[in-house]
Amino acid sequence: MSSFNAAAYHRLVIKVGSALLIDEHGALDTNWLHGLAEDVAQLRANNCEVLIVSSGAIAIGSRVLGINRRKARLPDLQASAAAGQVQLASAYREVFGTLDITTAQVLLTPSDTEDRRRFLNARGTLGRLLECGVVPVINENDTVATEEIRYGDNDRLAARVAQLVMADGLLLLSDIDGFYTADPLQHSDAKHIPEIRGISSEMLAMAGAARSDVGSGGMQTKIQAAQIATHAGCATIIASGKLTRPLQRLGEGARCSVFFAEGSPAAARKQWLAGSLKVAGSLRVDEGAVLALRKGSSLLPVGVRSVKGDFQRGDAVTITAPDGREIGRGLAEYGANEAQLIAGCHSDQIEERLGYRGRSVMLHRDELVLFDTYA
Ligand code: GLU
Repeated sequence: MSSFNAAAYHRLVIKVGSALLIDEHGALDTNWLHGLAEDVAQLRANNCEVLIVSSGAIAIGSRVLGINRRKARLPDLQASAAAGQVQLASAYREVFGTLDITTAQVLLTPSDTEDRRRFLNARGTLGRLLECGVVPVINENDTVATEEIRYGDNDRLAARVAQLVMADGLLLLSDIDGFYTADPLQHSDAKHIPEIRGISSEMLAMAGAARSDVGSGGMQTKIQAAQIATHAGCATIIASGKLTRPLQRLGEGARCSVFFAEGSPAAARKQWLAGSLKVAGSLRVDEGAVLALRKGSSLLPVGVRSVKGDFQRGDAVTITAPDGREIGRGLAEYGANEAQLIAGCHSDQIEERLGYRGRSVMLHRDELVLFDTYA
């Protein structure tokens, strides 16, 4: 029996490695992509939201530009990515379109997932796309990412995306069907490990380095991705996507390795908010807001009485009850100056006060935590 059960996931990030999409001549394999689209349609029919992180831009683009990837320097790779990304995105649009699935291209750099202000922007866009029933097709923005700041491989990017959107599943599809004690191509006695709880440094050492010609990630980047995702409450599955309809095959029992999540995505996010952030200011709220927050709502400007501190959008702020007690904290959707302008405002007054439309919440419900005694 397969340990991958698609029905267990509500929001799944699927990472597609270059080697699956691009054939030996550097051409995009539309048949394979069509099979993936059918798998995605099936997942969506079962109420699972899907995001795809797809590699392949550099592999396609280097063929188009006649660049030899083995000798390529960073500008060659960036030019290849620019030329290849157009084709990659249009292949997804065309193929998924045949099944009435709308796709959207999202290009990210590490700072979009790590800088909290940009993190809020990326999360907002991806969240809205999912609400619109779209499948985001994400890649690294290779054309602007320089050597020092690149992810370089999409395994870790996919894990960051999973963390960003609070996915409960991350499926890394590549040319290998799971985690082994050694590289199975070089060691016939390498043992496949189907289920993993907790990743040890020994496992990282076992993972070795990259070996695929077309993609850039090896087992090591997959394990690092699993580390990021499982800490964020997201299970990670390493599986082969070599055959068509990879998810269907997994459902039928194809071999894979599952790294179990540590808790849920919501619990991991709350723990991070509660524990590891430096607070830069505070929002004093009224009784109505305290009640709404307890019911799980976002904090609206109308419920904010006063604003203290000098904080920027994305900084952590304390939520203070009318009696002065600190009841929680969250990531500010507005910097202090703007927060002051709209404190106490109804949503329809925000535009007038700010001079632009703005956002409707002061703290988003996914980015705030109430301390246990108040939750
Ligand atoms: N972003 C690169 C591309 O689209 C791929 C990185 C990877 O192979 O993981 O070509």
